[in-house]
Amino acid sequence: MCAERLKSFGELDLSRQILQALSEMGFEEPSPIQKAAIPLALEGVDLIGQAQTGTGKTAAFGIPICEKANPRFQAVQALILTPTRELAVQVSEEINKIGRYRQVRPLPIYGGQSIERQIRALRHGRSQVVVGTPGRVLDHLNRGTLKLQHVKMVVLDEADEMLDMGFVDDIESILKQVPTEGRQMMLFSATMPPEIRKLAQRYMNDPKSVAVSRDELTVPLIEQVFYETRERIKVDALCRIIDMEEIGQAIIFCRTKRGVDELVGALEARGYFADGLHGDLSQQQRDRVMRRFREGKVELLVATDVAARGLDIDNVTHVINFDIPQDPESYVHRIGRTGRAGRKGQAITLISPREYRQLRSIERLIKSRIVRKDLPTISDVSERQAENLKNQIVKILQKSHLGNYRSIVGPLLEEYDSIDVAAAALKFAVEGVDEQPDEDDEFSFGNTGAAPGMVRLFMNIGRVQQVKPQDIVRWIADESGIPGNIIGMINIYDRFTFVEVPEEHANRVLSCMHQNFIKGRKVNVEPAKARR
Ligand code: AMP
Repeated sequence: MCAERLKSFGELDLSRQILQALSEMGFEEPSPIQKAAIPLALEGVDLIGQAQTGTGKTAAFGIPICEKANPRFQAVQALILTPTRELAVQVSEEINKIGRYRQVRPLPIYGGQSIERQIRALRHGRSQVVVGTPGRVLDHLNRGTLKLQHVKMVVLDEADEMLDMGFVDDIESILKQVPTEGRQMMLFSATMPPEIRKLAQRYMNDPKSVAVSRDELTVPLIEQVFYETRERIKVDALCRIIDMEEIGQAIIFCRTKRGVDELVGALEARGYFADGLHGDLSQQQRDRVMRRFREGKVELLVATDVAARGLDIDNVTHVINFDIPQDPESYVHRIGRTGRAGRKGQAITLISPREYRQLRSIERLIKSRIVRKDLPTISDVSERQAENLKNQIVKILQKSHLGNYRSIVGPLLEEYDSIDVAAAALKFAVEGVDEQPDEDDEFSFGNTGAAPGMVRLFMNIGRVQQVKPQDIVRWIADESGIPGNIIGMINIYDRFTFVEVPEEHANRVLSCMHQNFIKGRKVNVEPAKARR
């Protein structure tokens, strides 16, 4: 089958169990390295893949391994060597997910973990795949606690790193213990120095190289920047960037369907108007999301590459790569969605420290540098917001249609300082009515983004739990005893609901509702955060 024409995992010769696992992992279609490598790997030929972290290389060898291993045979059938323990654990986790329904189980063995525990696990014999660092694997071989006589597949992952770390002798000693009869070897490496070619020549049998084809690409002339951030704070980093930028409408790209859903949830919970697009949506749902985005009701469209394909939208001011694309070509396709029709646009990419290589290969393809920017600090963001406010005021002053408002200010100036009056007016414009606690106010809600006189509450149930507006009204009215007809606006999202209740009843509603049960589920109810 021609790798270029191959589009979906379904077109690969994969079992139902593997396809189900991939779908649950949120993978929509094979990445380019997977399209190229999987069919060959399934045929059993030896492979050399030039690919770095972030391209989907782990699944490129992990899927064929899980497909070909025999789950009922209690012996190690595949061995994967990695340069570091972090990578061993990561690869093992990915194989565990891919092999979940075929009952193919990996075991990571690496230095730093108690060897006794590993010996026990090896003796147990439940793992068909061993993922390990060369030193520790050799250690087990020397002790006789790991046996390779049934190994049919060997992977050298990040081979260049292993060589740089001086593992070449260890690797050779290990390879000598794997029977050559019927052995399949796969080697993945970001670079291909001569030592790797030599290693391949010595141990591989007529290996095929997998390279991903390059289309002719036109790179749009737009500003391209990247920010380095860690996984743990990625969503907050994104929010700060959004707050600093003058975003009209943005498309935010995630790697998986699940990533899209999670990010939409996280953004909604922070008060942004976001919606998601991925392959699991029906045509009707997709049309609804696109309509809302076009009408400007949604400012952030979160999407996978597959879902964004064929989208025809013109006014996108920003393309944000929340996850770096898996291959440089998709970067170019993604960013081509902004800066259309001669408009200004910006492409922003978030990367983790491990993804620099990916970034560099994108730079090589587009033949230019992507500029690094430092993440904005909280005070940058508030300065920016102050600047925006000032600009808005200057605009209003310049138009000077102040009419009746001037007559309200006049008498106030006789009693108060003019700067104080202007500052109070500004505060009112930004925060709405004064919700600062008076002396005897037991609890102030601050600005919850509600209509005047109301408090907006956030609850962590939504459409997914099949919640309807009438459920919310009935529930609040029953539990707190306030009349249903004074409950304000209700907005139900997939996993959250916002509901507004009159300020004077808000404490009561909160204390009756929070941690109470609805639809058999304990629900959190909290004052919402203000929208931006
Ligand atoms: P790797 O290059 O193997 O380090 O993979 C990088 C990330 O991409 C991992 O989080 C994988 O789970 C994810 N990934 C791999 N293949 C796909 C795919 N076909 N679609 C979406 N995500 C993928």
